[in-house]
Formats: sequence, structure tokens, C-alpha cells
Amino acid sequence: MSLHPDTVAVHSGRDDLNALGVHALPIDLSTTNPLPDIERGGDAYEAMATGGRPIENGSLVYQRLWNPTVARFEEALATMEHAEASVAFSSGMAAMTAVILAMTSATGKRHVVAVRPLYGGTDHLLGSGLLGTEVTFCHPSEVGVSIRPETGLVIMETPANPTLELVDIAAVAAAAGGVPVVVDNTFATPILQNPLDLGAAMSLHSATKYLGGHGDVIAGVVACSEEHAEALRRVRAVTGGLLHPLGAYLLHRGLTTLPVRIRQQQANAQRIVQWLIDRPEVDEVFYPGLDGDPQGILDRQMRGTGAMIAMRMRGGYAAASSVASAAELFTHAVSLGGVDSLIQHPAALTHRPVPADARPDADVLRLSIGLEDADDLIADLARAFAVVETLQETKSQRI
Ligand SMILES: *Cc1c(COP(=O)(O)O)cnc(C)c1O
Repeated sequence: MSLHPDTVAVHSGRDDLNALGVHALPIDLSTTNPLPDIERGGDAYEAMATGGRPIENGSLVYQRLWNPTVARFEEALATMEHAEASVAFSSGMAAMTAVILAMTSATGKRHVVAVRPLYGGTDHLLGSGLLGTEVTFCHPSEVGVSIRPETGLVIMETPANPTLELVDIAAVAAAAGGVPVVVDNTFATPILQNPLDLGAAMSLHSATKYLGGHGDVIAGVVACSEEHAEALRRVRAVTGGLLHPLGAYLLHRGLTTLPVRIRQQQANAQRIVQWLIDRPEVDEVFYPGLDGDPQGILDRQMRGTGAMIAMRMRGGYAAASSVASAAELFTHAVSLGGVDSLIQHPAALTHRPVPADARPDADVLRLSIGLEDADDLIADLARAFAVVETLQETKSQRI
């Protein structure tokens, strides 16, 4: 039966609940599991430590290898991403680390092509060389010429952070040749974009953001083929960047409302974008499709424009900093994708570790739009803009 995304979000990863006689998702908090006997215990251990699934009549042995509550969430997310499997981690950065290790050190191909702009933490991780990789940072159009025989991975992000620039997933996948492409799909979520359908090998999420949606779980997840999932589970079993089952439970529950949240947050964001465009305090608004989508990327790869906005303040850094502090309904905080709206300054915070020539401009603020009434959010921004004007008037009077 082919089901619509809203139905999939509510029902996935729950096929066996009726047979278990329960309605809510069960949580398994065991750290260790009884062994049937030494041989079967050993076989089960071997299967899972090398990235495989639990064996029949075996044991889960030790839950750094496998946790049923986490596996349920992984199954649900994989279904939503049109993937064979997914592998969850303790954070988005643990997920990115596992992807890099699995595709580079584990394969002997230590060169990575990274398409900028990227999330500050990803840029920092790659630039640091901590994982023993050599990295070529490039523009989307330079992927083809950057690929070498020893390239193990191409990393890209779309919509990009924080400028909401769209990068053509199919074009990057084609330019990468056979090299696996991982797309950071955190901003779009599986509701608006499915990178695997467009030729990417992996879709990565900071599940901390929209998937969780309530600001109370730090987690990461990668949707991919079973073959790539095995490589990722092997890294996870060995390095231990696990998602706790309570986090997995909250994420799985969060998936059920993801389509509705995205629709309403996006509707709010579109209202706010329309309002911002006409405001004299704002020099430029960044939002997918605002430029008319001349290359047709939005139409080809997304089913919506999302709920992230960036704006360039006319008064430069001083204005940006005052607006971030003056907003009241918008919490001045990093992170994004939750039910409540956030405002933050990317150059000073999320993108601080990025080299200056690739860092966002100092007059840019990023907004994550939540589920509040759009009129209240607009009124809050209007109030914050008025504070900036008062400050500027006071300054000119002093001069
Ligand atoms: C937050 C974020 C990450 C990192 O995820 P954590 O869960 O904070 O480790 C990666 N990519 C994007 C786009 C993000 O917003």
C-alpha cells in the first residue's frame, strides 16, 4: 500500500505494536542482555560489531551494538527518507564524524570534497584535519574538477546555512561521478526534500532541529542504503557515539507531527518574509525562491520553502546586534527547527569557527520560525526594529 507522507509519519516504525499489545512506543533501557549460550552470543556480537543486524535467536549482547528503541526510530526515519536504512547518533556532529570516518579512513580514500557554504561545525570539523582527511572546499560548480582518485566523500548542504542558498543535489551527484555524496538535509527535513531520490548516497540530519522539534534532544541520523548503514553502524559500535533510547523515543514521537509542524512553520515564515521585504530596516531577505529560482532548483528538488529566514540589517552589525537583543518572543539563541521562534547572529555564533573569507556577513541575522501566531512574531520584530531606530536617533542627537 502506498501511503502519503502524513500517514507514514504517524505509522512508521510501529508495525509490530498491535502484536505486542501496546499502543505507545516501548522503551528498552537495558545496557546488557542475557546470552542464550556462548556460541550464539559470540555470533551475535560478531554480526553487530561489524555493522550487521541482530541475528535470530541470538542476543543483543551489549547495547552499544544495538538498541530496539533506537532501531524503531531508525526504521521510521528511513521510510520517510525513501531509504533502506538509517543510523542514529548522539548528535548531528557525531553523525557527520561517522560518515567521514566510514567513507575515508575505513576505505583508505582520505580526500573529501566539501561544497561551501556548510554548517559552521561541519566546516570546522573538516578544516581541523582531526579525522585525518585532506579537504578541498569548493563552489558547487567546482565539484567535478575537485574529485581525485582518492576522493572518498562529497559533502554538501541545501538549503545552505545561513543564507538559504540552494545547491542542486542531482548536479553535484552527477559531477561526483561514483563518489558517494552526503547531503545535510537538516533545514529541509524529509517532508520537503529527499536527497536519495536525487542521486545522493546519504541524507544527514541534525535531529536536534526539526525532527525533534521541541528543543529537548540532541541527536543526529543518516539515511542511506543498507550497505552504507553497515559501515556507519560499525563506526558507531566501535567509537560509541550512540543515541540514548529516551532520545530516540522523543524523536520517534516527534516524527508524527513533523509534516504538520513544517507546514504551519513554513506558512508563518512566508508571511514574515513578505513583511520583511517591505521594511526599510532590512536591506536583503534570504529565503528559498525569493530570487525567482532562475535555475529551477527549488522546483526540481523541494516540495516547499521551509521555515528558516536570514536578513541583512541596514544598520550593519550594530543594528543586527540590537535587534537580536531587543526581540522578546523570538528567543536570542542558536539552534533551529523547534516549535518556538529563535533569532541569532551567524557570524558571531554558529559560523564563528569558519574562516573569515567564508563566514557570513556581520549584518546578517538568522530566524528560525516556530508555531506562534505570525502576527505576534511580526509585531515582535517591529518592536525590535523600533528599538534600533531609537538607538540610532539618540546617537545622532549626541553627535
Ligand atoms: C546543528 C546542525 C548540525 C550539527 O548538529 P548537532 O546536533 O548540533 O551536532 C549540522 N548541520 C546543520 C545544518 C545544523 O543546523
